[in-house]
Amino acid sequence: MDGSFIENLANFYKDDQWQLFDGETGDINVTETQEAFEAAARPDVTEEYQNYCVEGQMSYVADDLTMTYVIPLEPVVADEEGRMQSAGVALNGVRLDGPAPTEAILSAYTIAAFDDCGGHVNPFVGYRYHAVTDCQEVASEVHASAVGLALDGYMIYAHARTDGSVPADLDYCFGHTTDADGYHYHAGAAGSN
Ligand SMILES: [Zn+2]
Ligand SMILES: [Zn+2]
Repeated sequence: MDGSFIENLANFYKDDQWQLFDGETGDINVTETQEAFEAAARPDVTEEYQNYCVEGQMSYVADDLTMTYVIPLEPVVADEEGRMQSAGVALNGVRLDGPAPTEAILSAYTIAAFDDCGGHVNPFVGYRYHAVTDCQEVASEVHASAVGLALDGYMIYAHARTDGSVPADLDYCFGHTTDADGYHYHAGAAGSN
């Protein structure tokens, strides 16, 4: 995300309500306090914080926030296909989540930017990833870099194999079976949300 993206939001989203910066100074509206962040980082964004870049800081996350994950040792296949609210846990311990609710975010004229690792601070769950980049990858010679563990117990690997190719036989869940690794998932492309 850069200045010209912010400047052209109205064109990009074909909606004149977008005005994320001061027309005179060019300064971008950014949530600069925890109060502002919490008012903007929720579905019913108050009028005051529409047209803001929603930026959370790690210092806003409560010290006693804990997350407990129950992951089966033997993977358990889901009953039905569907979007999981939380996808799993990265090998570095950070929560791996599904797509960000971009429609809700954009309909309030807010932009919740990710850092270079595809993560951001959420007021309720702390720091989490919505995308897999090379930040999460743990190099592996075998198949593709390992990224994390899905909540159903299957491994999640990087989007592409170590040789750069993307498996062509992925199912609806972006999973497939190989002789060496059994059934496992591959992350979507970093920009695919
Ligand atoms: Zn999020
Ligand atoms: Zn694979």
